Amino acid sequence: MELEQKFKQTLEKIKLNKKEKILVALSGGKDSTVTAYLLKKFGYNIEGFHINLSMGDYSKKCLDAVEKLCSDLKIKLHVYNIKDEMGGSMCYIRTAIQTSHGKGLKNCAICGVIKKWIMNREARKLKVEKIATGHNLDDETQTFLMNILKGSPQLSANSGAITKNKGDKKFITRIKPLFYIDENDIRGYAKKKKLPVVYEKCPCALDSYRIQIRQFTNSLTKKEKENIMKNFDRLSERIQKLKSEEGLNYCEKCGEPSRNKICRMCAMIKK
Ligand code: SF4
Ligand SMILES: [Zn+2]
Repeated sequence: MELEQKFKQTLEKIKLNKKEKILVALSGGKDSTVTAYLLKKFGYNIEGFHINLSMGDYSKKCLDAVEKLCSDLKIKLHVYNIKDEMGGSMCYIRTAIQTSHGKGLKNCAICGVIKKWIMNREARKLKVEKIATGHNLDDETQTFLMNILKGSPQLSANSGAITKNKGDKKFITRIKPLFYIDENDIRGYAKKKKLPVVYEKCPCALDSYRIQIRQFTNSLTKKEKENIMKNFDRLSERIQKLKSEEGLNYCEKCGEPSRNKICRMCAMIKK
């Protein structure tokens, strides 16, 4: 099957080792579910990690789907409950940040920064070698184009099927095994395999700029999206050099890896 072949090729390209412990970031959506399903199918050593964002009924459905998947795959699941750990639901935390920073910060941008921060810290505690996420060809094409259109291609510096910050003791390497796989193919595969997936959209997914870019990438063929990301791979080293001088430091407030003195999470939260 083409999707499985592409998945395997990506794992070969990034030289993923079957002995390494990999934490799969599971949202309940099709992409992370297929990522875990295929990593397990091909014999990798995985555990699941889910952040319960406490966004009402939607979060309950996501948690149910993730629990069912991990039970079916017979893998350990770690659940981080944002309400218990951070004192409020994602909606509450996000509104508080938007109130103090103005409306400029988009829902998904805030949520994304918080989830990455939690995931890196928790993955380190769990002593895993890598974190796998479900980002697919469409997500990556959109992000790459958005960064180019913003005039900041260097923001894509650490992207790729594997992050380039390898070797930092506090930064857990992230992998994206679906990096070269079209979203429609993933949806079709998840349905064919009857995987436990929440197909409804997140009620907070309001990023108008990404929606505009998505409308554009939806009009592209699979081949055209693949070509954009082939160009990304060719440019990747040069983009990386644009950033390499900056290096990776540690946040003065929380100690997590950061490009600036204060990481994006602490800058938002203003502790
Ligand atoms: S769609 Fe946006 S708001 Fe919803 S979980 Fe994903 S990043 Fe968070
Ligand atoms: Zn910080």
